[in-house]
Amino acid sequence: MEQTLVIIKPVAVHRGLIGEVITRFERKGLFIIGMKMMQLDEQILREHYAHLTSKPFFPDLLKSMMATPVIVMCIEGKDAVEVVRLMTGATNGRKALPGTIRGDLSMSGQENVVHASDSIDNAKIELARFFKPGEILAYKPSDFRFYYAPD
Ligand code: GDP
Ligand code: MG
Repeated sequence: MEQTLVIIKPVAVHRGLIGEVITRFERKGLFIIGMKMMQLDEQILREHYAHLTSKPFFPDLLKSMMATPVIVMCIEGKDAVEVVRLMTGATNGRKALPGTIRGDLSMSGQENVVHASDSIDNAKIELARFFKPGEILAYKPSDFRFYYAPD
């Protein structure tokens, strides 16, 4: 099993899409093993988006990500990092395929509803950034056979 980080962004909180996003992951057969609401600040966002700090849109991105609290989730499942990225879709909502979260719920390059870790290594780093020890809960939500058998 892998674990990955999803952030439900302020735009989705504003638009009342928290439940819609959570439901998609649950119905897919992924398991939420950590979840909380938190207010992001500039310091954590400069770390999280370190690859973008020199971009002209970075000040707008910062403002947007601090506009309301966000929901952070640790999602577990087989190949969870790749599956969640596939479900998330391309960065720009107008380019993301229909059926993906961004493709179905966003028309924007920036306000694209969710963040999802892009590699197994980054998922580990990002989960450690947003969750304290003890906030990710190892439990068996259901019999995995119903989700993954026979593979
Ligand atoms: P992601 O992994 O698909 O979220 O994409 P990136 O890691 O490249 O970018 C992080 C976030 O920055 C994206 O989800 C967008 O919210 C935002 N972003 C990326 N590219 C652009 C852009 O060209 N313009 C604006 N305004 N925001 C962008
Ligand atoms: Mg990214």
